[in-house]
Amino acid sequence: MAQGNLVGEAAQSLHPEGRLIAHVGGLASALLETTEMLAEPGDITLFEPALRYADVLVRADVLIRRDGRYRMIEVKSSTKVRDSHVTDTAIQTWVARGAGLDVERVELAHIDTHFVYAGDGDYRGLFAYADMTDAILPLQEQIPVWIAAAQRDLAGPMPDVAVGAQCKKPYACEFLAFCQPESSEYPVELLPNSAKLAQQLRGDGYADLRDVPLDRLKREDHRRIWRATVTAQPELDSAAATKLAALPWPRYFLDFETVGPAVPMWKGTRPYQKVPMQWSCHRQDADGTLSLDAGAFVAALEFASQRTALVLGKPAPGFFEAALASMDCPPKHAVMVGDDAEADVAGALRAGLGGAVLVRTGKYCHGDEERFDPPPTVTVENLSAAADWIVAHSPRSY
Ligand code: SF4
Repeated sequence: MAQGNLVGEAAQSLHPEGRLIAHVGGLASALLETTEMLAEPGDITLFEPALRYADVLVRADVLIRRDGRYRMIEVKSSTKVRDSHVTDTAIQTWVARGAGLDVERVELAHIDTHFVYAGDGDYRGLFAYADMTDAILPLQEQIPVWIAAAQRDLAGPMPDVAVGAQCKKPYACEFLAFCQPESSEYPVELLPNSAKLAQQLRGDGYADLRDVPLDRLKREDHRRIWRATVTAQPELDSAAATKLAALPWPRYFLDFETVGPAVPMWKGTRPYQKVPMQWSCHRQDADGTLSLDAGAFVAALEFASQRTALVLGKPAPGFFEAALASMDCPPKHAVMVGDDAEADVAGALRAGLGGAVLVRTGKYCHGDEERFDPPPTVTVENLSAAADWIVAHSPRSY
């Protein structure tokens, strides 16, 4: 709903001459205010005008009158026209025309994902406008029939309709909590991607996942969720445990969250573009110690200084160039010593260093000297042997 409001506000910002029909005071007040504004002479643009015809009340998103004729725009946060939008605009138009407005054109404004936000609240180009005028014509005769049926339902007793797929698509029904009061801590809807199955289970009298017979569940992930729910015990996958146990130390755990607003908030971003907004990287050493890696501190320093860090490291050439510049050392006179055949050794040689010594300690793995290109100048057992090798070789002899 909040996102829908932002989309509506962005659409309104494209019509600075527009006037909003207030939501305070209730529908009667909105109807009166709309009637008064529409009675004003000349061109007019209204946001959320309230219109009524045949006991049906609608609020159009944008209503524009030019030379006595009306253009009606329905604004949606979706990225394309959906079937439900055709019905929606058809009913809005039927009411508006019935209320006496000469509606010449009906449009559906949906999000154009090609739009790139240039900043400063400029949302020109955010919406694509689909002309619905012809698409809604075939429905106009049907609408009185739908409305008569809906009014009969409203006047009658409570319909006996089970909760089902219609409660969530195309929109979540606001009466769901009434029709399906939460009766269990573990409702059958917990099963992922299983709206139809949950509906069948409820139809068969199962509201709580723990009451469902296991043979009603065919998918392995559903059966696993059922077992964990019934036993209240986590279930660990032994194959996954074997793979995880084989990972080398230290281990890094990267976690991040993204946001993708329909109305982009940051310059240079597109609608619904996933923007990372929170992340963390934890490191676990072989003794089980958990610690934060440098990333969290960089993020903290960026926040405190309000500056964007230039992040670089091995094997980026810039990393080696920065180190050499700090020592005023020509690349050809430098030797890199490291236990990482890819980041330390190959990276240094690609950056133009005179030599790179791979030591068989730390993260070195058997065969690393042949795994990466370019290969190390020499491979030695440890740091002491690396120092001996460097002393024995002048830079010109590399
Ligand atoms: S939740 Fe809404 S759509 Fe579903 S049965 Fe109840 S009233 Fe009908």
